Amino acid sequence: MQRDIKTEINQTGDRLTKQRQVILDYLQKVTCHPTAEIVYNNVRRKLPHISLGTVYRNLDYLVDREYALELNTTDAERHFDGCIREHWHYICDKCGTIYDLRRAGNMPVRKKVCWGKVERTECNLYGICKKCARRKK
Ligand SMILES: [Zn+2]
Ligand SMILES: [Zn+2]
Repeated sequence: MQRDIKTEINQTGDRLTKQRQVILDYLQKVTCHPTAEIVYNNVRRKLPHISLGTVYRNLDYLVDREYALELNTTDAERHFDGCIREHWHYICDKCGTIYDLRRAGNMPVRKKVCWGKVERTECNLYGICKKCARRKK
């Protein structure tokens, strides 16, 4: 079940500002793992006066509280993900597309290892995606 993050934010006593709401909506709608700049360019259609700094601050807020994920990829950009269910990623070395691996069956995750309980995993698989492989031929 998808968590109702807007209600959760309200319950913490933090303000669910219009900006926060629009950024969260955008992140939850897309699967492209956008950078802050892409988020900015999209939310600007709804909030023409928003600044890139405000977008950064709100993304930091969402990531800090685990309402959104920030991916640690090999490129220098920060990528954000509105899907906070545990899932891994396949990242194309060539085009940089970040694909979601949603099927739990793909993930050899153990809930416990000898050092303790596993609370969180983050895994990026790298390769050349099918689209790029086809283009090369
Ligand atoms: Zn590719
Ligand atoms: Zn993802």
